Amino acid sequence: MTANVLAIDGPAGSGKSTTALAVAERLGFAHLDSGALYRAFTLAAIDAGLPLGAGARIAALVRTLPIRLVLGPQGFRPEVAGADVSEAVRRADVTAQVSAVSALPEVRAVANDLLREAAALHPRGVVVDGRDIGTVVFPEAPLKIYLSASAEARARRRLEQEGRAHDAGSVAEETRRLAARDRADAGRAIAPLRAAADAVALDTTDLSFEGQVDAIVELARNVFS
Ligand code: C5P
Repeated sequence: MTANVLAIDGPAGSGKSTTALAVAERLGFAHLDSGALYRAFTLAAIDAGLPLGAGARIAALVRTLPIRLVLGPQGFRPEVAGADVSEAVRRADVTAQVSAVSALPEVRAVANDLLREAAALHPRGVVVDGRDIGTVVFPEAPLKIYLSASAEARARRRLEQEGRAHDAGSVAEETRRLAARDRADAGRAIAPLRAAADAVALDTTDLSFEGQVDAIVELARNVFS
């Protein structure tokens, strides 16, 4: 395994992926988005018409299609049977179902193998974002960040980024959806969302995007020199 793993965990909408990509670009590392991998598994299961509780069948499907993480200029992207699914994994039905699929132990075992294999391939290092990266997938990572922000701040940012209406009603609805996904991810029996004991906690509610990227890059420069 490459020693240069920077782990970023946190709840839905905390800006992990955009932050991880920007940090990776500044460090010359590759971005590895573990959520996109769970989304690719979910997309494949939905498209194959599999019941979403069928862990062993989904794990088998993932291996035979296969689902892969492929290194491109923007970091690793998910491919299903050779097709780039970076856009398709953002589908609303995938977002609604992904927590159910990612709670299956067989599925998590395959995801962890793929994430570790991908990280080992990169000569410089990887910035990996997810829910259990610092606790389960790369517990030896020399730098772990736990990003958080209030559910309302996360909902507002998400709606703004996606160019959707962000009146009080839409923010309340998106806050409810994010909070439900947080509860599912933090309450599951296997690899729940939580900060590693040695993670640096960063509350970004009042930080600008540039501010949070700068803070992490500065920490990383002291660790990966
Ligand atoms: O980060 P993103 O919101 O794209 O992740 C989608 C879902 O994938 C999460 O809600 C969670 O259920 C699952 N996930 C996970 N473990 C990770 C990354 C994501 O269970 N390391």
